[in-house]
Amino acid sequence: MAENPMLKFVTVPRDMPVKRDASVRKEDFDEIYAEYADAKAKEQASRCSQCGVPYCQSHCPLHNNIPDWLLLTAEGRLQEAYEISQATNTFPEICGRICPQDRLCEGNCVIEQSGHGTVTIGSVEKYITDTAWEKGWVKPIKPAKEREESVGIIGAGPGGLAAADALRRAGVQVTVYDRYDRAGGLLTYGIPGFKLEKPVVMQRIEQLEQGGVTFVLNCNVGEDISFEDIRKKHDAVLIATGVYKSRDLPGPDGGKAVRAIDYLTASNRKSFGDQVPEFESGELNAEGKRVVVIGGGDTAMDCVRTAIRQGATSVKCLYRRDRANMPGSQREVANAEEEGVEFVWLTAPAGISENGVMAQRMRLGAPDATGRQMPELIEGSDYVEEADLVIKALGFEPEDLPKLWGVEGLEVTRWGTIKADFRTHATSLEGVYAVGDIVRGASLVVWAIRDGREAAEAILTDALAPNAVAAE
Ligand code: FAD
Ligand code: SF4
Ligand code: SF4
Repeated sequence: MAENPMLKFVTVPRDMPVKRDASVRKEDFDEIYAEYADAKAKEQASRCSQCGVPYCQSHCPLHNNIPDWLLLTAEGRLQEAYEISQATNTFPEICGRICPQDRLCEGNCVIEQSGHGTVTIGSVEKYITDTAWEKGWVKPIKPAKEREESVGIIGAGPGGLAAADALRRAGVQVTVYDRYDRAGGLLTYGIPGFKLEKPVVMQRIEQLEQGGVTFVLNCNVGEDISFEDIRKKHDAVLIATGVYKSRDLPGPDGGKAVRAIDYLTASNRKSFGDQVPEFESGELNAEGKRVVVIGGGDTAMDCVRTAIRQGATSVKCLYRRDRANMPGSQREVANAEEEGVEFVWLTAPAGISENGVMAQRMRLGAPDATGRQMPELIEGSDYVEEADLVIKALGFEPEDLPKLWGVEGLEVTRWGTIKADFRTHATSLEGVYAVGDIVRGASLVVWAIRDGREAAEAILTDALAPNAVAAE
């Protein structure tokens, strides 16, 4: 009888791809993990116990068929593994790199819970799709038949692009409008290269362009073209504009505080080789500076690690709760610490002065309604955390789109996010759909992809003529 290639978790330990040494990786913006060698990917996939009820799959927002592609990888049938993986995920190589797997698929893997260490699902997913690109298995989009109807998509982030891909495969004419000069949204200008190298994003955009998606870049809807004009031009419209209004601290900022999104965008632009005057002038460059980042989420982690790579003399991260209660991924905190970032826990900003951040020490008090302990101020504990550059990473809120775009009847929630049906993503306006962060609030790439795919399906069945041609 042939040997079972799976269930090796008892004898084979969990092994992530090699992580570059901190002293080397902090010198550049390249990804920190190397690729698995083929034998290693097979070996790690073979640890899966092929659960009858795979919790990994139910906790993946895309319900990826993880056990099947792990089995095929373990058997060396990579092309079939790729076919299954891409059937449910528009950008598997991107999710494999940047999903917070510890909170999603891997965090719910049963062998993790039995103390053997999770199957490295994300790294195998990345390996499968990177190999598919290398071997030419990722085919250009070629619809079986062209359709006349067109859809206008506002926003070229993962939500908009996932919808563009699905609609184009069905032969629909797709135009994506974006105010930036490059497509990709936060994949391009938010997330740094050490988590997601830019050529990985650009090759997907080229694939969409080659497949017939039209991009209208440097086009700020509401300024360069009105929302109503876009509605008139297309049979359906999808809003996928993300959330970009930065939360701020009250009071003056001492002339040295910048917004995380501006700081990260400038750094990503430099990685593309662009001229960035605010970087050149030093305003958005941490080189030779004592840097303090305020916030404890993933954006703050990206800022501290970017500042290290730019050559800051010191980098501190101020967060009002403790390590166990921070929203950012523990894996990213560990990476940041290895690279030389100092975390100042239980410390909140009261304001920003010429010398740095006016800080106050906190302690954790009684839990709030969600069970999370509330930070309480320790009276008389004020001090100044000295800094030459302060980066505010306090989170994002939606812009007031109905007002900005002068649209009547587009309903929003009390948080300002667009109201949309959770399954079809239809808004209160006929033929207008919305997905991603502008509906969910700041969220994750994988949720934006799911929304985009679902909205495309609903647009095909509900908004366009019901003679949809199956994708090739
Ligand atoms: P976006 O990616 O924000 O794209 C929206 C697009 O709409 C942008 O290109 C914007 O230019 C365009 N747009 C906006 N307004 C207009 C207008 N008026 N006219 C024309 N175009 C417009 N998620 C993860 O899963 N893993 C991570 O590691 C991770 N890291 C992150 C790091 C940072 C620094 C940030 C800020 C976010 C991170 N996220 C991460 C979250 C993730 O990037 C978002 O949830 C995701 O990109 C949302 O996708 P989206 O398509 O809704 O919007
Ligand atoms: Fe895990 Fe994200 Fe891949 Fe789903 S898409 S399997 S959550 S890495
Ligand atoms: Fe395999 Fe873990 Fe998923 Fe079970 S939960 S199928 S062991 S990856």
